[in-house]
Amino acid sequence: MPKEIAIKTKEGTYYKCTHCGDEFFWNTHKKFTYCKCKKIWVDGCEDYIRIGGKEEDRKVIKK
Ligand SMILES: [Zn+2]
Repeated sequence: MPKEIAIKTKEGTYYKCTHCGDEFFWNTHKKFTYCKCKKIWVDGCEDYIRIGGKEEDRKVIKK
């Protein structure tokens, strides 16, 4: 199932704010989550991931 593949590739993926250092797991369960300084936000679930902020404001981290 494509859904399972999507989950597998996203496993261990975090988004980090380059300003305040806040880290989010990609899956926020559809909860709109801002970092401490509000430069970036993440809204993710198993069907989609939305990330706000400029590209230079965030980093993708694999754990
Ligand atoms: Zn921040």
